[in-house]
Amino acid sequence: MSRFVAEVDLDAVSANVARLDRACGDAAVMAVVKADGYGHGMVPSARAAIAGGATWLGVAFAEEALALRAAGIDVPILAWLLAESDDLEPLVRAGVDVSVSAPWALDRAVAAAASAGRPAQVHLKADTGLGRAGATRADWPDLVTAAAKAVADGTVEVSGIWSHLAYADAPAHPTIAAQLAAYGEALDVADRAGLRPRVRHLANSAATLALPETHYDVVRPGIAVYGLSPGPDVGSTAELGLRPAMTLRAEVALVKRVPAGQGVSYAHRYTTTRETTLALIPLGYADGVPRHATNVGPLAIGGRRYRISGTVCMDQFVVDVGDDAVHVGDDAVLFGPGDAGEPTADDWAAAVGTINYEIVTRVGARVPRRYVGGPS
Ligand SMILES: *Cc1c(COP(=O)(O)O)cnc(C)c1O
Repeated sequence: MSRFVAEVDLDAVSANVARLDRACGDAAVMAVVKADGYGHGMVPSARAAIAGGATWLGVAFAEEALALRAAGIDVPILAWLLAESDDLEPLVRAGVDVSVSAPWALDRAVAAAASAGRPAQVHLKADTGLGRAGATRADWPDLVTAAAKAVADGTVEVSGIWSHLAYADAPAHPTIAAQLAAYGEALDVADRAGLRPRVRHLANSAATLALPETHYDVVRPGIAVYGLSPGPDVGSTAELGLRPAMTLRAEVALVKRVPAGQGVSYAHRYTTTRETTLALIPLGYADGVPRHATNVGPLAIGGRRYRISGTVCMDQFVVDVGDDAVHVGDDAVLFGPGDAGEPTADDWAAAVGTINYEIVTRVGARVPRRYVGGPS
């Protein structure tokens, strides 16, 4: 045991990717490993995803793409959230594809290509209705024209044309058909300008699992790679054939008997109603246990379920375990796949009013990741 650990089952990651690969027919899988692999560890997750059949990797930021290359990972990588201050030249040199939503970004890619001495691989992003990144329908023709000119100059290759859905986790939502139509239109505009993208891609996890008409050439699942459902309307983890990869556990650091009427933790948001045993768990909001889990966060100790008692602190929280025989050093499981009756990341999300994505991604940097399984 260790004081606390996030165990990551890399075989589960590989199996989840294989499951997604089967779900998307002929399309290729771009496993999304941004944000340190949704908290699971970026490089080990990337390797496990590749072992499971992913042939692309997706990240948000330049540093993430370069860290994958530095680890010796040589599959195609797309980095999609580049800022004006980012230096694109190392990305072009490292053969990382970059997303372009506006002419200024295309200019940056052209300049980076000139200094790197090789063409930049760009994925032109259309805003088909999400209202986030991407060129609007009004701005798209100019971006396409500028890209066609850069292609003719030999400075840029259009690897992809892509977009992102607003409501994929609500598979019957009317915006999906509207976004598909807008995406089709954006592809037609590009085609008329002579652009021949190698890949077209639109689908996140929810769309990969629930919306085959969005698959195109590549799908971009993130949360499902780590075995979590993208949303209840898509299906539960078990229904989707996924396996949660992360188990967050800690060692009980202190137990003590206290009388009735003992206020517990800051501001005494919990008070004992009878003589009882309190157990101290050395994980807090600095480690990703949401402060909103005060009095509601679930956990299991010795296979029995409890709830956090009182305020979640920076480094610790307390659990009233009644008269149960809980001892210093016992294993407390905050969430895991649920096999042994422990809560899941979905249970945590429901308890604190967020989504499972936030529960796993926010597990803090001081919690060591311990890997089990994985490609040799
Ligand atoms: C994060 C992200 C994904 C993955 O989304 P999931 O819902 O985790 O599958 C795909 N595409 C883009 C652009 C993203 O930002």
